Amino acid sequence: MSVSAVSSLPPAFLDRLQHLLPPERYTDVLSTFVAPPATGFRINSLRVEFPESVITNLESLGLVLHRVPWKDDAFWVAPEDRATLLASDAFADQQIYVQNLSSMIPPLVLDAQPGERVLDLAAAPGSKTLQLACMMQNTGELAAVEVVKSRFFKLRANLNAQGATNVRTYLQDGTRVWRYRPEYFDRVLLDAPCSTEGRFHVDDPATFAFWSPRKIKEMARKQRKLLYAAVQCLRPGGVLVYATCTFAPEENEAVLDKLLRKFGDALVLEPLGLSLPLTMPARSIWQGKKYSHDLSNAKRVLPTSTMEAFFVAKISKTRSTMEAIRQR
Ligand code: SAM
Repeated sequence: MSVSAVSSLPPAFLDRLQHLLPPERYTDVLSTFVAPPATGFRINSLRVEFPESVITNLESLGLVLHRVPWKDDAFWVAPEDRATLLASDAFADQQIYVQNLSSMIPPLVLDAQPGERVLDLAAAPGSKTLQLACMMQNTGELAAVEVVKSRFFKLRANLNAQGATNVRTYLQDGTRVWRYRPEYFDRVLLDAPCSTEGRFHVDDPATFAFWSPRKIKEMARKQRKLLYAAVQCLRPGGVLVYATCTFAPEENEAVLDKLLRKFGDALVLEPLGLSLPLTMPARSIWQGKKYSHDLSNAKRVLPTSTMEAFFVAKISKTRSTMEAIRQR
C-alpha cells in the first residue's frame, strides 16, 4: 500500500490516528482504508434450522468460507468472492445476513437471552436487532428505536424480511424512551450514532466528506444524552453495552468517563467476556487530559481486512439510578 493512497483522507484525522495507535500498528490500520474489505456474514437462525446445509450449498458454488473463531455461525469471504455470495440462493432467501464481523461483537457482549426484555436504542438498519432476535430465539420482548424516518422504514423492512417476530419498533428519539419505560429492560444496547471513522475508505469519499473535529464534538453530545437515557431504561442488575464504529476518544472514553462520574458506583465497567483478536484497552489519557476512571475493560477493536474499527464497553447496573432524578 502506498502512503499516497490515504492522502485523500482528512490530514487532521490522520494526525489524530497516529497519536492514538501504537506506532507498530499505524501502517496496517492505514492499509484498511485502501484495501478492498472481506465480506462477513452470519447464518440467520430465524430462517435456518440446519446451518450445515447452508454452508454446504455455499461451498458448492466454489466459495471459500472462513470461520470466525469467536462466533460459530459467522464466516467471511475474500473480496473477490463477494459477488458470488450476494448472488447465492442463501442470500436471496435470507438464510444468511451480511454484516461486518466487528458489528457482531456488541450483541455478543450484551448476551441477550430468550424471554428477556431487551432494548436496542439506536437500531436502524437493524443488523444488531436481528442478531439479538436470533439470540433470543424470537421470544421475549425486543424493542427497537430509531429517530430517522427513512432509516426507521428500512429497519422495519429488514426485520420483516429476515423473520424477526419478537421486535416492536418505535419511530422515536431514543433520549426520551426512559420516561415511558424507566428501569424496565434486562439489557440495553446503544450502538450510538458516531463520526463513523471506522467506515472510512478512499474509494468512497462520501464516507469521510463530513468529518471534522467539530463533528466529533457534536456526536459526543448526542452520545452522552443517549447513554444517559440507556442507563435510565435499564433495570438494576441489568447489562448495558455501548458501542461505536469510530476511533475518536471524545466519542468513546470521554463519554464513558462522564457517565461513570455522573452515576458513581451504581455503574460498573465490566470485562467484555469475549476473546477477540487485535483489541486495545480504552485509553487512560488523550490529548493531555487524564480520565478519572479506569476504563481499560472497554476495548477498541483495531481494523483489519476482515474487521472494521469498533469500540465496545459493557456496563452493569448495581442499583436504581432514578433517585437522583426524583430528588430534582
Ligand atoms: N445498530 C444499527 C445496526 O447495527 O444496524 C446501526 C445503528 S447506527 C450506528 C446509529 C443509528 O442511530 C442511526 O440509524 C441513527 O439514525 C440513529 N439515531 C441517531 N440519533 C438517535 C436518537 N436520538 N434516537 C434514536 N436513534 C437515533
